[in-house]
Amino acid sequence: MSGAHVLLLAGTAEAAELATRLHQRDVRVTASFAGRTRGTRELPCAVRVGGFGGVHGLVAALHDGGFDLLVDATHPFAARMPHHAAAAAETAGVPRLRVLRPPWRAGAGDRWDDVEDLAGAARRLTEVGARRVLLTVGRYDLEAFTGLPGGDGIRFVVRSIEVPEPLPLAGATVVTARGPFAVEGELRLLAEHGIDTLVTKNSGADATAAKLTAAREAGVRVVMVRRPEPPPGPRVETVDEALDWVARGGEAHQTVV
Ligand code: NAP
Repeated sequence: MSGAHVLLLAGTAEAAELATRLHQRDVRVTASFAGRTRGTRELPCAVRVGGFGGVHGLVAALHDGGFDLLVDATHPFAARMPHHAAAAAETAGVPRLRVLRPPWRAGAGDRWDDVEDLAGAARRLTEVGARRVLLTVGRYDLEAFTGLPGGDGIRFVVRSIEVPEPLPLAGATVVTARGPFAVEGELRLLAEHGIDTLVTKNSGADATAAKLTAAREAGVRVVMVRRPEPPPGPRVETVDEALDWVARGGEAHQTVV
């Protein structure tokens, strides 16, 4: 492996695996977390927590830390960090790679409604006459659903890793759970709450894909929020490809989009 010092923007399962495997290969790696979720930072490598203070802060961090490579393995719905990473890497002259797992794709028997964003998801719930909705969008993305009819209208079940505090949806039921999830449990959850519509962001994660199989089997509609557009530049889908990129010292041999 290369003797490079890697700054790894973390927050996903791929980032955790990449950090571990780079560390095992004696690559110097520092994993960076935004610091929004507890209990996800037990990594063998060096760890830093908290924002950099925008593009300028990240440029300074790249210089000050003596980093040779920047790997952006943030979540597919991280809307700002990938753009900051792209701009900072260019300014600092540090090769950057985006690790972005493929999105989920609808198959036979799926009832999916693709929507542009969370506001679109909220509108679609009204349009389709949803009554009992399972929201798996994450605790920071509940605001978009607050303007919808309450009372005898839509009833929400919110599933998130940590309890949303405050909970912006009055009367919603909260289920806390951390993946991976299995189809059987997801079917039970849908049945227990009489769910007719599931709202999810298209994260593409294996650990949370069982809800889509369960929705198909139970005939539950899925309102699927599309991902934000990533910045142009080198991109891979898997940890293996990212390891290869690091081993080559950030050579631009992968897809440039
Ligand atoms: P975001 O909109 O792209 O980022 C907001 C700000 O948080 C960034 O401008 C940056 O602050 C800081 N930040 C984000 N990722 C960071 C990292 N890895 N290390 C240091 N600072 C980071 O992203 P977000 O949606 O708020 O998500 C925050 C983190 O949670 C991301 O790392 C992401 O991977 C993870 N996550 C997000 C989701 C989701 O659905 N959005 C789901 C699971 C995990 P500065 O500008 O100050 O540098």
